Order: sequence, then structure tokens, then C-alpha cells
Amino acid sequence: MKPKYRSLACFFLLSSLALAQHPAHHKKSAKAAPVARPKADPALAIHQSALIIDTHADTPQRFLDENFDLGQDTPVSDGHIDLGKIKQGNLGAEFFSIWVEPEFKGHYAKRAMDLIDSVYQQAARHPDKMAMAFSADDIVRAHDQHKFAALMGIEGGHAIENDPRLLRDFYRLGVRYMTLTWSNTNEWADSSGDIQDPNVKHHNGMSDFGKDVVREMNRLGMIVDISHVSDATFYQALLISQAPVIASHSSSRELTNQPRNMTDDMLRAMTNNGGVVMVNFYSAFIDENYRKASSDPEKVKQRDAEVEAYKKAHPHPDGSPVTYDEYAAIEKKWAAQFPRPPLKSLIDHIDHIAKVAGIDHVGLGSDFDGVTSLPEGIDSAADLPRITQALLQRGYTREQIHKILGGNFLRVMREVEATARRLQSERKESAALSFEDIELMVGNRVGPAQLIDRITKHGVDFALTPERRTVLKAQKADDAVLDAIARSKRK
Ligand SMILES: [Zn+2]
Repeated sequence: MKPKYRSLACFFLLSSLALAQHPAHHKKSAKAAPVARPKADPALAIHQSALIIDTHADTPQRFLDENFDLGQDTPVSDGHIDLGKIKQGNLGAEFFSIWVEPEFKGHYAKRAMDLIDSVYQQAARHPDKMAMAFSADDIVRAHDQHKFAALMGIEGGHAIENDPRLLRDFYRLGVRYMTLTWSNTNEWADSSGDIQDPNVKHHNGMSDFGKDVVREMNRLGMIVDISHVSDATFYQALLISQAPVIASHSSSRELTNQPRNMTDDMLRAMTNNGGVVMVNFYSAFIDENYRKASSDPEKVKQRDAEVEAYKKAHPHPDGSPVTYDEYAAIEKKWAAQFPRPPLKSLIDHIDHIAKVAGIDHVGLGSDFDGVTSLPEGIDSAADLPRITQALLQRGYTREQIHKILGGNFLRVMREVEATARRLQSERKESAALSFEDIELMVGNRVGPAQLIDRITKHGVDFALTPERRTVLKAQKADDAVLDAIARSKRK
């Protein structure tokens, strides 16, 4: 069993930084005022003038399963994000995770749709304070209007149910990144979460279909997210992707030996790719002592037993899995036995990635509302200024800090958008049919004669591998159509 670390660890309420809410833009005027002002806090000024983008929060499960409203003030023991904390932390944009628990097998897309809807519902309820955003320009526009920008990323490629049409539909609904896997290997990409498990069917990275998914994401303008994937999947994704990729919530394996963290070689590959690694705040991913303590097999057994006992004692009448808040209560108690790491551990990861991958390739991917423990001083999104303060103390400049807080991600998002525009215009010029084109026509029951006619006229731009043949056969493609594809000249 692999429960996601979903609950919240907050063990004491640190008095927050006493951050006066005076955004930098109101600071002009008052030249004549003779009153001596307290010296402005330089870290706070840097923080308040930044466009801050966090690329991973699991809050949608709270929206959906707990009917949580973002306008509610939440104790940090219950949640890391609400509109008050967003304002206090000057969080400009958040990627809400559309995470489909593998237990929803058979209904992945439905669950994803419900989570997507839950994000839109929040934006509709708070139109004065937040806005849905689908592009880099949208993020900047919302920020200019003093609104919090809500974006969405799918966590776990299984959500597309092996269907490129669903991938396109999710894009149309506004999803702007997808992690190729979650902790589970799916039918087309290997995950770091079960790569050692001999009972799982692996692909040596990605299958042909998986590689096509990456290409289609490039064409759509959906950011390829390599958080959670196996090392082989990572390197293959980088080889195939024509656009920069992101790790929406991953830290350094050199510092904390967790298989879903990134090795220094991977960090250097990210530099070449032009992508960005968004550092995960979870204690077990940023602190070796915490990781060791919390991964002690006896402790893990104890947690799993508690979850199983709970499931047995509280079955849902409709057979649905244990919900977020139910897990949260159990795991919160369990995680509280391990002391929180110092803030320094988190800053060390940012610093290490900035040094190895480069200052242009690091950002923030908190995993808020998805983890049971955060480092000391970071109880919620309201505490983001402490990161700026710590970076400033380490000698980072205002410009560098602004890159880390959001500038780097925004650059990557723009590059992904530009790549999509280029690929779409190239695709129009090339008459050759892609595998997706054929699949779409077969799926739409275009007759074999018409299909063969188009294939002979235009040619195809892919090889008919056994795997692709199986996919088309499964969709009841005519044998004559398959022969026509095999005969067709590759362009
Ligand atoms: Zn995750």
C-alpha cells in the first residue's frame, strides 16, 4: 500500500512573521512627511514585490471531499492554504493538483473532472480575490489586478486512461501540466514509486504510446512534469520533449536520498533542457534525518496498520475509498512523533539546486495540503516570506530571489507556449497524418475506404510499431487500414 502523505503536520502555532500588509506598490508618496519611519525590512520588500508561483498543492481534495471553501480561515493543523494565508504569504499563483488516487480505478477521468470542477467552483465563489489562469500572461494579468491566479496540473498520467483524446480534453478544461506518473507506474510510463517492485509491469522508461503522450503534450502546450517518474522515464522524456520540462515538486537526492528526488546528473540535464526544478517542502524529501526516522519499516508498518484498521472500522456505504480528511487525522498523529527539520534543510535544497542546475532552473513546489510534515517555520503559505528572508541571508540578490519565487517558472511556461505554437503551425504545413490523427479517425468510426484513401494520399509520420498496431486493433481498426499504414511512406 502506498498512501499518499496527505495530511498536515502542524504541531505548534509559530507566531507568524508579523508581516504588515503593505504591498510595495503603495510605497511612493510621503516625501514631505517628517515623521521618522521604521527602517523597511529589505527581505519583506523583496518578497512583496515578487510574483510568487507555487507549482503544487493538493487542496482540491479538500474542496471536493471536505467541501472546504478557500475563503475560510483555516487553522494550520487543518490546511496550508486559504485566501488569508495566500495574501499574507503574497502567493501570486498556485497550481492545484488534480491528483487521482489509483484506488479510483475505472473512474480516473471522472475523479479528475470532479477535482477540476472543484477548482473552478472556488474561483466562481471568490471572483474579487482570485481568477482561473491558463497561460503565463493570465498569471501576470491576475497579479496586476491583485488577484490570486488558480491553475491546474494533473498528477499521475493514469488520469488520461490511455487515451490521447482525454489528454486533449483536459487541456481544453485548462490543465497546464501533467506529471507523467504519480507513485504508481501506469500503462505507459514507469514511476520511481514502484520501480523496485518486481510485481509491477515496467516499460524500461516509457512505451511508444508514452512517448507519443509527451509529443502531444508539447503540441498542445501542456507542460511535461517529471516529478515522481523513474530515472529512465526522466531521461527519455528529456530526449523527446521539444519544450522545457518541469519537476513540479521534487528536491535533491544528493542531500536527501529519496528515489523521487533528483540526482545531480538529472539536475544538470534539466539545465540543458532549459526546465525548472520546483523544490518540494515535505520534511521527508528535504531532511535525511527525518526521512530515515519516518521510513523506519516498523514505523511505516504502524502507520499502514492504523490506516487499514480505520478502513475496516469505517467502511463507506458506497464503497468509495477513505477520504482525505480521514487519512489526514490518522497520518497527522502518526507524523507528529518525528521532530520537524529546521528551515535550513529546505533552504539547503534550494541552494543546492541553484548551484548544480543554475539559478535559472530552481523554484518552489511546496506540496502544501499534500504532506504530513513541513520544516520549522513553514506552517502554511502565510510563511513564504521566511524563505525569502533565508535566501537573502545566504547572499542571494533580489533578482535571483525573484527568479526562484516565480520568474523561472514563468519563463518556462512561456517557452512551452511558444513551442506549442510552433509545432501547431508546422503540423498544419505537413500533410502527413500522425498516429493521433489516425486514432481519432478510427475512434470516430471513419469508414475504412475513406481512411485508406487519406493514408495513401497524405502518408503517415510514424512507424507502425507492434504496440501501435495493438492500440488500433483494440479500437477495431480494419486490417486493410493497418496494411495501408504499414505500406505508407513515412514522411
Ligand atoms: Zn506528488
